[in-house]
Amino acid sequence: MIAAGTQKALNIIRSYDGPPVRIMEVCGTHTHEIFRLGIRQVLPAQVTLISGPGCPVCVTPVEFIDEARWLALTKHVTICTFGDLIRVPGSEGSLANVRSQGGKVEVVYSPMDACEYAKANRQEDVVFLSVGFETTTPASCLAVKEAAAAGLTNFSLLTANKTMPQAYEVLKGSADVFLYPGHVDAVMGTKHGEELAREGVSGVVAGFTASELLTALAVILVKFPQGRPFFKNCYPRVVTEEGSLSGQALMREVMEPCDAEWRGLGVIPRSGQRLRDAYGAYDARRKYAVPALKGHVNPACRCGDVLQGKCTPSQCPVFGKGCTPEHPVGACMVSHEGACSAYYQYGGI
Ligand code: SF4
Repeated sequence: MIAAGTQKALNIIRSYDGPPVRIMEVCGTHTHEIFRLGIRQVLPAQVTLISGPGCPVCVTPVEFIDEARWLALTKHVTICTFGDLIRVPGSEGSLANVRSQGGKVEVVYSPMDACEYAKANRQEDVVFLSVGFETTTPASCLAVKEAAAAGLTNFSLLTANKTMPQAYEVLKGSADVFLYPGHVDAVMGTKHGEELAREGVSGVVAGFTASELLTALAVILVKFPQGRPFFKNCYPRVVTEEGSLSGQALMREVMEPCDAEWRGLGVIPRSGQRLRDAYGAYDARRKYAVPALKGHVNPACRCGDVLQGKCTPSQCPVFGKGCTPEHPVGACMVSHEGACSAYYQYGGI
């Protein structure tokens, strides 16, 4: 039994007869949920969904994997990481290969887990691979504060944390409407989306259930034909205008903006987060004097184009052939939020 509101949204979507519209699912979780829930099948032909760069593992550049491998193999640190990152190819191999070369890599489920590992294993130097957007960065900040409070000297972060608003600036024009990630806006609030609408860039904040996604898409299809830029928060049970003030304060206290390289998008000014000087002892790059590494990606991989919405995963020549989840060539096939993995898993074209 479908709730009345959801049925209404479904009816609006199915009966859409307005102009063609390109909607970018900025967030990889949205990409997967839209596939998994079968929402693509109910969209009219003139509605195109484009997968964007909102998968933290996918946008992390190859040099980051190279840095982590260098730390494990040259400085003999224990790398603590989320499982996805282990199979992402670096220039000379992945972190999985590091294990077979004698390096130590531990899978953890949170930055605090890595901190606890460091507490329990003080004879090891532990580096946590801190990737993620505003949703996960506060947890890395908390782990650093906990390490400082506990007087740990064997724990640090290799940071590749990023913030989304600067990416939206780069992606302007890639789509007609952004489907904003609800979990990011839960932390950061809606001000940036409202500002972008004033600049002519439309967007809707969406949650992650079938009802929330259908409602957000229906709102887009009602508003887009009206021809005026719009912003709508369709996830009000979680997202507020100001966001999480405590999460924002924690990030401001521990980290500061820096220029950051995004796979496929290049360097985006002030789109990264690095540890402030006050927490410099927990910055693995400073602690171990990590050299600047120039990485190289497999030339067959089109992750960069996929992340910018310039091609679909299935338009990559090695999609499903040389590149599968079992044998990934690029990051977008590895991560459970990656567009290539979603297309492969759900048979997207
Ligand atoms: Fe890269 Fe594989 Fe996706 Fe092609 S299918 S873009 S090689 S991850």
